[in-house]
This record gives sequence, C-alpha cells and structure tokens, in this order.
Amino acid sequence: MNLTHQQLRDWDRSAHWHSFTQMAEYEPLIIERGEGCMLYDIDGNAYLDGVSSLWCNTFGHRHPKIDQAIRDQLDKVAHVTNLGCSSVPAIELTKRIVDLAPGELNHVFYACDGSSAVEVALKMAFQYWRQRDDPRPNKTGYIAFHEAYHGDTLGAVSVGGVEMFHDMFRPLLFSVHRLPSPDRDHLPDGVTSDTACRYYLDQLEAVLKEHHETIAALVIEPLVQGAAGMLMQPAGYLRGLRELTTKYDVLLIFDEIAVGMGRTGTMFACQQEEVTPDFLCLGKGLTSGYLPLSVTVATTEVWNAFLGTYAERKTFFHGHTFSGNPLLCAAALATLDIFEKEKILDQLPAKIAHLEMRLAELIDHPHVASVRQCGLIAGVELVADKETGESYPWTERRGWQACRHATQNGVWLRPLGNVIVIMPPLSITLDEIDRICDAAKAGIDHAVAPCGE
Ligand code: PMP
Repeated sequence: MNLTHQQLRDWDRSAHWHSFTQMAEYEPLIIERGEGCMLYDIDGNAYLDGVSSLWCNTFGHRHPKIDQAIRDQLDKVAHVTNLGCSSVPAIELTKRIVDLAPGELNHVFYACDGSSAVEVALKMAFQYWRQRDDPRPNKTGYIAFHEAYHGDTLGAVSVGGVEMFHDMFRPLLFSVHRLPSPDRDHLPDGVTSDTACRYYLDQLEAVLKEHHETIAALVIEPLVQGAAGMLMQPAGYLRGLRELTTKYDVLLIFDEIAVGMGRTGTMFACQQEEVTPDFLCLGKGLTSGYLPLSVTVATTEVWNAFLGTYAERKTFFHGHTFSGNPLLCAAALATLDIFEKEKILDQLPAKIAHLEMRLAELIDHPHVASVRQCGLIAGVELVADKETGESYPWTERRGWQACRHATQNGVWLRPLGNVIVIMPPLSITLDEIDRICDAAKAGIDHAVAPCGE
C-alpha cells in the first residue's frame, strides 16, 4: 500500500483513535524513522526526542545492538507461550533481573504493558493473604495516593488518583484508602520541607493503625508521581514507608514503570533509599522502549504462598498471550547488556548535573512556579501568578502551547497539564540537553505571552 502524505494524514485523523488525544482537535505528527535521539517525520522534519517517546526510550532509536538482538532472535523463533512452556531468552532474562533486583525479589512474572504489571501485583497481593500458611483473608483492601497513575486497566485505574483521567470511571472501580500525594513541592499550610516527610508518614501511620487488618497492600510510584506532573517525594519518605508497611504487615508494591531502568540515576528508584518492596513493577525502559514488555518481581515469601498441588488451587490464574515472549526478552537482554558493558549508570551524574544547571535558569522566570528534577526526569510547572500561586485555567492549555512551540522548533516535548516534562533518553548528550532546555524556555515564553498564543 502506498498512501500519499495527505491520505496518511486523513486516515490518521479520521480512523486512528489515538491514546489520550482529543481526536476532534488532533494535528497529525507522523514519524517515519528515528536515529539516536532524533525522530524524522514523513516530510523530513527532524525532532529531538525530549520525552523518550513517552518515557521509555533509553538508548535512542535504532540502537545497533538492540536491533541486532531482535533480528537474531527472529532467526530462531518469534513467539512461544510461557503457559507451562519456556524459551531461552525468557529464562536468561529472569536470571538477569533476579541478579539485579535487591533483597528477596527473586521471582519474575511477565506481562506486556505497565498497567498489567500493576494488576498482577494487586492480584498477587490479594491472593497471597488468602493462601499463605497463616491465612488472613480479611486483608483485601489497598492504600493508594491522590494523583497516582498506575495505568488504564480497571484495577490500575482503581488505585489511580488523577481526577482528569480516573473520575469518569469511579462507578466501575473498587474503593481504596486514599492518602494525599506525598508531594514535597506543594506543602499544606504549616508544613515545611523539614517536617514534610514526617507529616506524610504520620498520615500513613494513622490509616495503617486503624485499618491494617483489612489492608493487603500499598501501591506507590516511588520518588516521582509521573503522570501527576512529576510530583516528587521528600527524602526519606520511601524508607519510612517501608518501615511502616513492615510494622503493620502490609505488602508494598513499587510501580517503577516510569522511574525504573536508570531514570533516577540508579537502576531502580528503590535503591536511592536502599529499600526493597514486596513487588517491583518494571516496564517501559526494560526493552529500551523498543517493545512492550513488563515484569512484576515478587519476593520468595510471596512465591512460596502460591506453591502446592494443582488440587490445592493455589495457582496464580493470570497470564497474557505474549507473557515472556522471546523477542521482547531478547530486546531486554540487550538493554541490560548495554547498561552493564557501556557503564551507563556511571555516565548519568554528569548529564543529571548539566540538566540541573540548565533548569536552574528557569527558576526565576515570572511564570514558573516550580522546577523539579529527579535524575533525568524533570517537570517545569507554569503558573499564572507567581506571587499568589494562582494556576492557569486548565482549559487554556498553556503547557500544551509551550510544548507545541518546542516541537515546531525541532524538540519534541509533551506536557502534563501546566507542567512541561523533560525526560530524554539516557543516551542524551550535553549539547542535546542544551537544545531541549533552550526549546523549553522559548516554548514557555511563547505560551505565557498575554494572549497565550
Ligand atoms: N505506571 C506508571 C507509573 C506509568 O507511568 C505508566 C505509563 N505511563 C503505567 C503504569 C502504565 O504503563 P502502560 O502504559 O505501559 O500500561
């Protein structure tokens, strides 16, 4: 089939239902190819990929080693099921993940997208309490956070807390104990950055004290609530969270779909505070953002509760057609090889520091309320009135205007409401960081101009 560019645009607008996109207003951006951190559209325009193709691309596009690993696997077999069967790449990847994961996180369950990895953790936690040696079947509830995002399937939406995305579906969802976002940059009156960590942990302890006997698990995006607009947690919070969940016998699920795989400067975000959750969910960057692979890594304590004869009905009756698919696993193995052989984590501090230095230039901007960063994740929040903190009405789409301006000038950015997100591939160069920050700044100046256009 050879559609003209106009036909491509027409079909893209009229029949391709895009994710999180108002199709009545959609302006096609049709990418034809990529190379390193660059993307090229069908008209030959070049864009620097400032959001890692939605927070997942790790080493740029068309990385020769990942391309080759997928081709090599294609020469063997593209797909085998993991329902009672296996493949060499799936086993090798399992060992690599277990070797990397902290503590007793020794058992790897495969799915394809991040949402499914969270669903798996929620269901495993629920089932664990029913069939461990000393069962506690009343532990069926969950603790989750305002502004949380864990994906778009209904279990993940139930624990999600972004009003714009999730409220529509409330009648379909199970209820959870919902805590305020442990957000270090928007503190309630009377709370300071010194007392924030204790304040949020006290809130958690109050809920745990009262309800722990009916709570199976707590789920959180550790360090950064991504889709909320890159909301960051006070230092020490994860460690306190681990202590409290252990004290009150509540399983801890870390959704590291966005923050795992080197994003925060360590391989996993939990390593920044040296804590080990009971479930670690990974996706996105696990295949360098090439292919849809996610995992839920569980502890041996959890795994043991699912062992028994078939007749005991302790099996985890959950799985996906492409769970453990060898092509996906080959891409993930190549990703881990690159992390190790090219010492990627060692290269990050210089890039993180450079981004920090460039972002500091925006702090005094009259319409920037907050500049926040964790590793190679950054959010720049726009505000109508810096003095009063009054936000721009969300309908004005100032963040979107800033990012559209950047994109038109060759740096592809995508906002979250009034927050400009900067989340480049880990392979980004210092020059490319400069280009992204320059384009973001120009986009912000454009978007906050009085008419907004
Ligand atoms: N959890 C987090 C923290 C995420 O950021 C995302 C996706 N942005 C998901 C879960 C869902 O992943 P997926 O889109 O692959 O289902």
